[in-house]
Amino acid sequence: MNRAHNFSAGPAALPLPVLESLQGVLTEFEDAQAGLMEISHRSKQFDAVVKSAEARLREILNIPKDYSVLFLQGGASLQFYMSALNLLGPDDKADYLLTGSWSQKALKDAKRCTSDAESIWAPDDKVFNRVPSHGDYTVRDGAAFVHYTTNNTIYGTQFATTPDCGSTPLVADMSSDICSRPVDVSKHAVIYAGAQKNLGPSGVTVVILSPWAVERSRTVGQSRPGGLPAMLDYGLMVDKDSLYNTPNTFGIFALDRVLDWIQEQGGVKAMAELNERKAAHLYGELDASDFWTPHAREGSRSLMNVTWRGPNEDLEKAFIAEADAAGLKALKGHRSVGGIRASTYNACSMESVEALVTFMKEFEARNS
Ligand code: PMP
Repeated sequence: MNRAHNFSAGPAALPLPVLESLQGVLTEFEDAQAGLMEISHRSKQFDAVVKSAEARLREILNIPKDYSVLFLQGGASLQFYMSALNLLGPDDKADYLLTGSWSQKALKDAKRCTSDAESIWAPDDKVFNRVPSHGDYTVRDGAAFVHYTTNNTIYGTQFATTPDCGSTPLVADMSSDICSRPVDVSKHAVIYAGAQKNLGPSGVTVVILSPWAVERSRTVGQSRPGGLPAMLDYGLMVDKDSLYNTPNTFGIFALDRVLDWIQEQGGVKAMAELNERKAAHLYGELDASDFWTPHAREGSRSLMNVTWRGPNEDLEKAFIAEADAAGLKALKGHRSVGGIRASTYNACSMESVEALVTFMKEFEARNS
């Protein structure tokens, strides 16, 4: 087997035991006498898969009993629109913390649903190298919710703790750090995340809804002219247990296997401990060297996507190419910002980060 150290931002590395277990179900799944992808989403075998995935996620994230858990399609990008459409009337206020491209996109889609969706914080200098602290922003009176992106995959910044927005409900895009650390789900009205970073393959989106959010969908959302389109209706998805139409059956099975792996590792506490050690090793190297310049400010640094610059673009390109040849893959920064990015999600091992840091030191010695 020839598997390199994979620092992809997503779809990202998956735990090897999970990948191996997936191979086993392709041709024959349990007693179905057919492969997993060949059986009905309404079969008893698949019903058990959905129930298992939901139960594991509830256990791992300590999701309150009265919250709903959905496995949808359309990616986190659809949730930018769907969350706003279900929670907002045409003139309702919605407040957004703008910490990077993904929250900007979320706000853009919210503006299609209400005349009053606004940014309540964005960096003055437009450099997305930090997240706001409590006191940097004011939630507007009567805002239906505050939306934030827990981890900014492109810029490598992350909220260290849940923002304090008083009693205003929180809507969180957790695409790139869900299940990487403990989180207080009960402080949130909506949590959504594309699976392809910490949870499994692309094509599954986890959505967690508070009773308030489901009720808003049934009342405010449904009161739009014509009501909510079926596929964009949280209430309907809850009523149908994510099986209104045909879901990504293979994706949900893979997600269940990843959640099983997380449980075996010791849950989100163990994941957080590993993720902190990996990040400390990498940031330690960036801070110790004058050759590399980390992008994110201390206090806002992501444990999931570490971003930095080299001395110049030519050396960055050479670093990425030479690292690739040395078996350290996918270190190129996002196309919109350039530079270097190492994504160190749950399935990225400490050994991979150590190999990267060793290579960084060698590269620096050869080029400075
Ligand atoms: N939000 C964040 C924080 C992301 O990192 C991404 C994808 N990289 C998205 C949203 C968009 O996700 P999707 O491709 O699943 O629509």
